[in-house]
Amino acid sequence: MHAAGSKKLMEELTYVKGVGPAKAELLKKEKQIFTQADMLLDFPFRYIDRTQFQTVKEIFDEGAHVQLKGVIKQVNTTGVARKKRLNAIFADETGTLSLIWFQGASRLEKVIRPGLRVIIFGRLGFFNRQKTLAHPELEIIDPTTTDNKRKTGLQPVYSSTEKLNSRGLDTRGIRRITQEIISKLNVQDIPETLPEYLLNKFRLTSKFEAIKAIHFPIDNMQLEAARKRLAFEELFEMQLQMLFRMTSRKKLLKGYVFKEVGHYFNTYFNNELPFELTGAQKRVIKEIRKDTSVGIQMNRLVQGDVGSGKTIVAVMAILLAVDNGFQSCMMAPTEILASQHFSKISEQFKRIGLRAEFLSGTVKGKKRKQILEDLDKGDVNLLIGTHAVIEDPVVFKSLGLVIIDEQHRFGVEQRAKLWKKAGSIPPHVMVMTATPIPRTLAMTLYGDLDISVIDELPPRRKPIKTTQTRDKYRARLNSFLKSEIAKGRQIYVVYPLIEESAKLDLSNLNDGYEALLGQFPRPQYQIGVVHGKMKPEDKDYEMQRFVEGRTNILVSTTVIEVGVNVPNASVMVIENAERFGLSQLHQLRGRVGRGAEQSHCILMTGYKLTKVARKRMEIMCSTNDGFVIADEDLKLRGPGEIEGTRQSGDLELKVANLARDIEILQAARKIAKVILERDPELTHPDNLLIKKLIEGDKKRGLLGRIG
Ligand code: ADP
Ligand code: MG
Repeated sequence: MHAAGSKKLMEELTYVKGVGPAKAELLKKEKQIFTQADMLLDFPFRYIDRTQFQTVKEIFDEGAHVQLKGVIKQVNTTGVARKKRLNAIFADETGTLSLIWFQGASRLEKVIRPGLRVIIFGRLGFFNRQKTLAHPELEIIDPTTTDNKRKTGLQPVYSSTEKLNSRGLDTRGIRRITQEIISKLNVQDIPETLPEYLLNKFRLTSKFEAIKAIHFPIDNMQLEAARKRLAFEELFEMQLQMLFRMTSRKKLLKGYVFKEVGHYFNTYFNNELPFELTGAQKRVIKEIRKDTSVGIQMNRLVQGDVGSGKTIVAVMAILLAVDNGFQSCMMAPTEILASQHFSKISEQFKRIGLRAEFLSGTVKGKKRKQILEDLDKGDVNLLIGTHAVIEDPVVFKSLGLVIIDEQHRFGVEQRAKLWKKAGSIPPHVMVMTATPIPRTLAMTLYGDLDISVIDELPPRRKPIKTTQTRDKYRARLNSFLKSEIAKGRQIYVVYPLIEESAKLDLSNLNDGYEALLGQFPRPQYQIGVVHGKMKPEDKDYEMQRFVEGRTNILVSTTVIEVGVNVPNASVMVIENAERFGLSQLHQLRGRVGRGAEQSHCILMTGYKLTKVARKRMEIMCSTNDGFVIADEDLKLRGPGEIEGTRQSGDLELKVANLARDIEILQAARKIAKVILERDPELTHPDNLLIKKLIEGDKKRGLLGRIG
């Protein structure tokens, strides 16, 4: 959308004063900035507050930006020609500071002299133990006016590169160009992209004002207003795209109709269900029944904290499919988890006359051939397995439902791959995850999925007690572990295994194992080890021994993280806990607390913790609520680092910050929904601009259109 009058902004940067061909070329190469519009869309990543002044006495931090008001006391130059440098002594009422210029000394020499009142701004350094500013910005206070209002409020800081820096395109250089473009800007150069009714409803500033102010805000209030406006547009556009996609998918993608709740569902419910379902489980099952009854493909994310009982919800959905003549498949991320699901579900299924099979890379030969044949014939009701389930030439007779466990990363592409396994109508899809993604993030990441939340734990679970401790108390820890083992409980001891330092981590794990062997001697105690570098058979063997209660302690890496269920294990010791992220710690802790006894999680940490690590430990010790933890995680790490979101293009936000802008996000989603409900094709004249937002040039990214 290149509105008339804005052609100027699409011009090459060489049209801007002070930008020659060399600089323009460099900006293209290093920052993908081609036009004036691109330059304006290169927002500052932070601001330096130049509304505040400090005094010499109160500045200490090396490298901090400081701004002071005072008098030049002394000036002298040393050296000649290119070696010439200028020294000055600056003073305010609290002390003195030296200023130094290595470049441009000759030019400065002419203006700077003792007695001059100035404002200086720069980064604090120490030179011969003296507080020093090298190359400070210097502003002469005009003694003839009493006007203290200065143009500089918050000063923008732009990202730069080494190459750019060396050619004078450091943050100052970039600021100068941006300033130049903005000084020539007219209202019509930046046409409005949101309809007036939205601007009024949410009290948003115009795009023109916002773009100007995001670069050169006078104060924090103006900056906030600009940010709010741009963040709203960004989030609104994102939500609009997602909702639009979702409604068109629903319109286009037919789905199988599961109209019967029949024999198998009821038999299982009456005879096999060992407990009463929680309210949350019932609600989610109802949501699934509704989804699968209307003839539109279901795409549902079921989120529930560890131990909230997602598996049974999946099983009930599978039985619904069976009752309506369809096969299902269930995928898990690891062999261990898949086989655990299989051993539990297949037994129950056998008892009610249904057949489940297991498929993974390790199932080979005749057995594999038989399973594939029977699937094709429709003799297998449920296939449980790893990725092999979609990677392989697996053909179903009538695949009606796909369940993806513990894989919120399972992306749109993989889902599409699954659909190809079906005929003209795709199977219903249910993705289950215990990685507690904050609701708001789920909304943005999975805005095109429907979301169910199991927000209730089965009754009579005792909250896990979490404590943090250090090596000094290891003897005490060991005697506690012994007392738990004496009560018949089992223990996990988990070590971090981070790829880059895999060798070192593995030797940590082995050292820990050796030490435990010393403290817990055979044959009285049995200790097992599991880690990712072991052969799958050996891993399964060790895992199985622990599941059967034959080992007291299982030393492992995070391979046991996902979904594994050993109700008798009641203690989780996490070594080097400071090296884990919050959601991973929470996931690990979720391996215990599955039985009726009191469970414990012990976080072993080093002595020196960073502030963030300390905070993580505090949060873990203070709550068991996965959603609270996810929110805190988001705050501590920022959305870019939440597990599984790193590669998501959806999160490449320019202005909005999902941790901070939750309210804006919710408002944007709500209004986007209302607008699409009232005007699904966006044909109303009031929504002309919104239609353009949706049709926007994707490659240029969100907010990628001005001029
Ligand atoms: P997750 O949501 O982590 O996948 P699971 O489905 O593995 O949780 O369930 C955890 C444990 O809770 C299992 O042992 C399961 O049998 C049990 N469970 C599930 N639902 C209930 C319920 N409504 N009442 C009692 N126990 C339940
Ligand atoms: Mg599970």
